[in-house]
Amino acid sequence: MSSEVRASGKNELPNEMTVTGWRRQSNTFSATDLVSSVASAVESGKSLNAYITTTPERAMDQARHSTERQKSGAGRALEGVVIGVKDNFCTADIQTTAGSRILEGFIPQYESFVTKKLLDAGAVFFGKTNLDEFGMGSSTENSAYGPTLNPCGIALGSSEFVPGGSSGGSAAAVAADQALAAMATDTGGSIRQPASFCGVVGFKPTYGACSRWGIIAYASSLDQAGVITKTVGDAALLMDVIAGSDPKDSTSVAYDFGGFEHSLRNTSGAFTVGIPRQFRDMSTTPDLEGVWQEIERRVSAAGGCVQLVDLPTIKYSLPTYYIIALAEASSNLARYDGVRFGYRANDPKNLIDLYERSRAEGFGRETKRRIMLGTYCLSAGYYDQYYAKAQRVRTMIYNDFARAFEAVDFLAWPTTPTPAFKFGSHNADPVSMYLEDVFTVPVNLAGLPAISLPIFQAANGMPMGGQLIGPRFSDARLLAVANSMLK
Ligand code: GLN
Repeated sequence: MSSEVRASGKNELPNEMTVTGWRRQSNTFSATDLVSSVASAVESGKSLNAYITTTPERAMDQARHSTERQKSGAGRALEGVVIGVKDNFCTADIQTTAGSRILEGFIPQYESFVTKKLLDAGAVFFGKTNLDEFGMGSSTENSAYGPTLNPCGIALGSSEFVPGGSSGGSAAAVAADQALAAMATDTGGSIRQPASFCGVVGFKPTYGACSRWGIIAYASSLDQAGVITKTVGDAALLMDVIAGSDPKDSTSVAYDFGGFEHSLRNTSGAFTVGIPRQFRDMSTTPDLEGVWQEIERRVSAAGGCVQLVDLPTIKYSLPTYYIIALAEASSNLARYDGVRFGYRANDPKNLIDLYERSRAEGFGRETKRRIMLGTYCLSAGYYDQYYAKAQRVRTMIYNDFARAFEAVDFLAWPTTPTPAFKFGSHNADPVSMYLEDVFTVPVNLAGLPAISLPIFQAANGMPMGGQLIGPRFSDARLLAVANSMLK
């Protein structure tokens, strides 16, 4: 990736803060050196607010163990790799807030499926990264723990730019060398959009490629774990560890991806990439036009050919998403009642008062708005008009994608309509914030894998990403082609 969009976190060692780079140097630098290096980047970049909770001592203990294993030749796949974990993955004995006040002080007794796999592969967790409350947002402005700043903006001398969301903390941590890679989730773009805004790689796998068990739910039919990294190679290394089915999540799928890292070594051969007419014909800006042209140039340079395709129902994605996601959220968030975990209102008069005040005081503004909208969409009399209709449109969108993939191997379009916007720019109108997700949500509705690649620099110097999207379970080949587009 281009050095202009790399952020400021200056580290003495190793000189390339990627998983692959560190592995190459791991005979020169130990895992404990790496933790010290990350700790100093976190310290000097404190104002970014990329982490809600850091666990440096625990990380150092893990790193010592990794160093021992490496010395004795028993190093595992991700031995000593320092990772940031979005704070909606439950981590045993470490506070997990989902960015919400209602979960402040919640210390899970169990480890999520995905983070357990990472720990078993030798990864070292530096801490829990910031996010919009329950993943609801596109800027991290909705975190109860304060917003995260965009490190690319900081490198340009401005603290006004959002890092994107909801995984703004994960993207900022990676861009600022506060982790070699980060775990994130993507319900409607939360991996890809912050990756685009922070100039890093964000990969959302096929729905069901890894288990959701132990991830704090936002909208269960859309939520998907994935990774934010600096390179496609790093994403592949992590995917090899986290993909897999799990009896505790019946929507996770036992699919043999054939090795993600391995797939990068195969030359991808000829491929076709469809550009949806409906997006290409939208009104554009010089920056957005630049992203389109860069996508087309890179596809050709990687040996692919581009053709226009039709996705007639894709224009209904945004309203469809915001009905389904909010309906599911209203149901998922009903469990936070002040009784079982997290925040509990003081001196309740009775049980109803406990519920009402715990929720009123514990949830943030945007979360409350979404619970109300979602509840309305599911209510008797409106269910058919909103929720049932949205489900039918979702099927139509899915079918449009299936038809397009009969003609082309992949699809591509920009990740975001603009580079990072400034804090507060959507305060007056929540719908204008929802419109930021126009290019990311269709992919979640259809359960497809998609990757955002840092390929363009906007006129103001901020990064913008291009997205490559594949059919379900094409994840390994998608990464191989994406890798060839970044070369
Ligand atoms: N910005 C979208 C939303 O607010 C997507 C969030 C996400 O993927 N978690 O719903």
